[in-house]
Amino acid sequence: MNLDPTLNADLHCHSVISDGTLTPEALAERAKAGGVALWSLTDHDEIGGQTRAIAAARANGLAYLTGTEISVSFAGRVVHIVGLGFDHEAPEIIEGLRATRGGREPRAREMAAGLAEVGIHGAFEGALKYVGNPDLISRTHFARFLVDAGHCSDIPEVFRRFLTEGKPGFVPHKWAALKDAVGWISRAGGIAVIAHPGRYGFTPTEEYALITEFMAHGGRGIEVVTGSHTPAEFVQYADTAIEFGLLASRGSDFHCPEESRIDLGTLPPLPAKLTPVWAELAGRIHH
Ligand code: AMP
Ligand code: MN
Ligand code: MN
Ligand code: MN
Repeated sequence: MNLDPTLNADLHCHSVISDGTLTPEALAERAKAGGVALWSLTDHDEIGGQTRAIAAARANGLAYLTGTEISVSFAGRVVHIVGLGFDHEAPEIIEGLRATRGGREPRAREMAAGLAEVGIHGAFEGALKYVGNPDLISRTHFARFLVDAGHCSDIPEVFRRFLTEGKPGFVPHKWAALKDAVGWISRAGGIAVIAHPGRYGFTPTEEYALITEFMAHGGRGIEVVTGSHTPAEFVQYADTAIEFGLLASRGSDFHCPEESRIDLGTLPPLPAKLTPVWAELAGRIHH
């Protein structure tokens, strides 16, 4: 397989095992239809879908890298770290992710209590109806409930009015440590990648701190072309990848046909001057 930067790789998406609405099997078919050649399913804090994704990729003739997207607390904010090409049966990453997921149910109950204070009742039970994996109740499930129950007209409105810092239903939460998330991925033979760096609203100083600390712990990659970036950010983070000597990644961050702006496999390719993360993971690809 030709592992050059222009490969149609989609290394970031979500299934019903976290906050997506499609099964791993349906995502594999959709990736194939979208022209994807190398795929990864990166459910939040969860690798329970990997065995199904590997089989579904093979059934559709897609090359596959194992994946996850780990929620990390860094400098008082939430940062997402994508892991690619790790051994999904390594006990340390399985246990680390299990512990990371553990706080989600109590957090969701607190979120529902916050919403009840502004007159929105039954949000915990409401959100649960949208959950495919009881271990992984997320803000996305609350957002779907708030829209379908008529409290908001769409998902972006939910995040503007609720569930974000300073708004009703927001609950601060302590996720994994950056060092641990990068360590779990790396020690299982994979590569850690900073997800959608343009989304954090960091100052240049904060972003420098994130990247240098991430690299000090063994992190090696950064998402450049993602559904969460503007075209200007594709250019900006291509420069960042070169400046720091980071491997570049590409992924749609697809969640749902009705909600996601960017479909699997439809983003522009990585700039040809970058070294893609998949060039360093050739031996970890499932064919
Ligand atoms: P959680 O891990 O429970 O904090 O939920 C985070 C998820 O909420 C993200 O992975 C996105 O899928 C979704 N999300 C966060 N912010 C927004 C937003 N502004 N618009 C749409 N979805 C969002
Ligand atoms: Mn999500
Ligand atoms: Mn993310
Ligand atoms: Mn994501």
